[in-house]
Amino acid sequence: VNTTFMKKLLIKNAKLIAAMDGHNSFSTGNEYKDHSIYCENGVIKDIFSEKISISADIEIDASNHIVLPGLVNTHHHLFQTLTKAIIEAQNASLFDWLKILYPIWSRITPVELKSAVKIGLSELIISGCTTSSDHLYIYPNGIKLEDEIEVARTLGIRFHSTRGSMSIGESNGGLPPDYLVEDESFIIKDSQDIINKWHDPSHGSMIRIALAPCSPFSVSKELMRDTAILAREYNVGLHTHLAENSDDVEYSKRMFGLTPGQYIEELGWIGKDVWHAHCVKLNNEEIDLFSRTGTSVSHCPCSNMRLGSGILPLNKMLDKGVNVGLGVDGSASNDSGNLLNEARQALYLQRVNETNNFYLNARNALWLATAGGATALNRDDIGSIKVGNCADFAIYDSTSLELAGSVEDPIGGLIFCGPLKTRWTICNGQIISENNNIKNINIEDTINQHNSLSRKLINS
Ligand code: ZN
Repeated sequence: VNTTFMKKLLIKNAKLIAAMDGHNSFSTGNEYKDHSIYCENGVIKDIFSEKISISADIEIDASNHIVLPGLVNTHHHLFQTLTKAIIEAQNASLFDWLKILYPIWSRITPVELKSAVKIGLSELIISGCTTSSDHLYIYPNGIKLEDEIEVARTLGIRFHSTRGSMSIGESNGGLPPDYLVEDESFIIKDSQDIINKWHDPSHGSMIRIALAPCSPFSVSKELMRDTAILAREYNVGLHTHLAENSDDVEYSKRMFGLTPGQYIEELGWIGKDVWHAHCVKLNNEEIDLFSRTGTSVSHCPCSNMRLGSGILPLNKMLDKGVNVGLGVDGSASNDSGNLLNEARQALYLQRVNETNNFYLNARNALWLATAGGATALNRDDIGSIKVGNCADFAIYDSTSLELAGSVEDPIGGLIFCGPLKTRWTICNGQIISENNNIKNINIEDTINQHNSLSRKLINS
């Protein structure tokens, strides 16, 4: 018996709670003033305004605080936190950027990977994220997906680990170097093993597995198709990069004679169990396909701007009923892991592009970062604050320097005054960070160690 496990949690007298329990990004749901939230065993049991005294193992005085559901990150490559702001890759578009970084990434070992995951997840957690997906598509030097899962469990964040893969190297017309690709039959076998060992489909699950061939330009059509069949057999999610920029679309047309949307439709990569990263260049028919089939988009605005990939037609997608979640994307193309900032950028980017500049408001953006992300990961137990959902919360101090002056609408202030960090991040009913300190690790030591690993990796 783990006697340190706290069963009862009380968030007392929160100044404001934005529940994000509405139907979609335009009807974001309830907002509560001066309410408390009571949770047991990681599940929300009651949201109430009366001043009743309940005793709990963990009590949080939230009287000066704004409470959101824990944010959900739908796209990341945590290993890339070793290669932030690499000079040569600062001014390059997707394909060139990848070709500069592949050789450095091929030297990563399990030690560096674990450090990268610690850093990347810590950044997310202090921004308010309580669930993250990760897409690991390189396996050099004995790296295993389990290296990541171990770290996520130590940190206490909910983790959707995706078994990425690359199988078509340069010599076969793909983008990655031959030394970074894997054998397709091994990929399928390893995917099965990892699902059997780790995937937990239950309510409140902390670890789920999804299958994620890296992109149409780095795996074969057969692997895409076989992976979809395998995912359906085991009832796990499917994830990949799609239509990220115009080179990506051109590759699809040249190699397969199909647009990215036609390609995935033919291979069965559509449905509520599928979420595609980027989708910047989807056309109207493809947007309709996503809407019709309940296929989700992981929108990564910072990465799209950083790599000059383009502007996602977010307004159009939401208008057509496509579900959209947000992703920070890998830390070599953002190079920050603040999910609340991603919501801010998602809102702002639409305002410079579309004719309907003010189609979205701050609450719509917060919805994408919470409930939208939960739907993208095919979960109905996270992403909003309601009885029966997981006790995952991002709690921001309304008296912080950044929010000073946003007294009329502190919830809107979370977007407009950002980027912000939480006072507390709570996952599964437990505090996983408080005042930028991450549970179970010493963040200063972790940063120092990480910088020396990163320096060695880049210079070797
Ligand atoms: Zn990505």
